[in-house]
Amino acid sequence: MLDLTDIHVVDNHCHPVLLDQHMDRVQFRGYCTEATDPIFAEEHVPNTVYYLWLLRQMATVYGCDRNEEAILAARNKLGNEALIEHLFRAANIDTLVLDPAYPPGSTCYTPERMGQLGRCRAVKMLRLETLMQQLIPEYSDFDEVVDRYSMVVSRAREDGFCALKSIVAYRTGLNITEWSKDEAFAAFAEARAEVTEQGQLRIAHKPLIDFLLHIAFQHAANQQLPLQFHTGYGDSDTDMRLGNPLQLREVLEKTDYHTMPIVLLHESYPYSQLGAYLAAIYPHVYFDLSYTIPFVDKLEMLAFTRQALGVAPASKLMFSTDGIHIPEMHWAGALRGRSVIGQVLDEMIQADEIDEEEAYHLAQQILHDTAYTVYKL
Ligand SMILES: [Zn+2]
Repeated sequence: MLDLTDIHVVDNHCHPVLLDQHMDRVQFRGYCTEATDPIFAEEHVPNTVYYLWLLRQMATVYGCDRNEEAILAARNKLGNEALIEHLFRAANIDTLVLDPAYPPGSTCYTPERMGQLGRCRAVKMLRLETLMQQLIPEYSDFDEVVDRYSMVVSRAREDGFCALKSIVAYRTGLNITEWSKDEAFAAFAEARAEVTEQGQLRIAHKPLIDFLLHIAFQHAANQQLPLQFHTGYGDSDTDMRLGNPLQLREVLEKTDYHTMPIVLLHESYPYSQLGAYLAAIYPHVYFDLSYTIPFVDKLEMLAFTRQALGVAPASKLMFSTDGIHIPEMHWAGALRGRSVIGQVLDEMIQADEIDEEEAYHLAQQILHDTAYTVYKL
């Protein structure tokens, strides 16, 4: 068996964890599903293979009985920071690439503190739709919004962001189009009306989002700054038909943007073959292999890892967990990623495709080296 435990992982896409880690069964389970209906936490999460596996790992690391009640009691007893330190160090993390836009900053550890607790580096990305949602309610003048937005994005690299991120897949879809300024302005007027009527904005106005994204792409290309796209799997906000990474064709083809590395998040699940294919074809496209979210079992992880390694170079593949809320996710994703990648590479050795030294080198690229190159770590 290929042993990858010594490779320090770069988690190229994850989120902060909550300040308050003391939680009951329903809350804990609620973090282990992308479904938002409370019936999942009550009835369905405990019957999910992923969750049963996670509980077994937790019982081992906390040294307690294998039942849910004992496991949650053991984690709650550890206290917030001790819990995070314990798990993050066990995960052997080199760098966390964090999206601090979610959960809300007031409820979470900062990226700096996450790094201290994990004794690892923590770097952050800038989520574009969050920036849009801050600026549009604040300024009534469209040109002023565009100017301020452009200013922030054009300075992202020097302001310490190592990437941009877009969640347009679960707002208006990945079929990002070029709209005229008039069309964008009309959508801006609708968004402003929503602010006036509802006191807040959930930006889902396609011409406006697409227009602002194109501005960001140009600035990212100028700075050679990577852009992470949420693709595939998500909650019920996602119209999965528009979460297919093939919808990005117009953006991928545009030569002006070829200096912007594009990272397709969450292995584009369940479009994993298609996403990996794009990474094999376009020089600037990279493919994220996420081992906590989506919450799938090991057999499914083996399947998407085979699909990715089957077509794309390891220098285009990057490990992540998408860990969020609870530190178990970052830790379990690191365990799982090493074990699944190791198993798939072993199969490839058995099939006489590669030798052991090559396998270890490919693993090193996925778990660590590719991200170093893409994010200039
Ligand atoms: Zn995420």
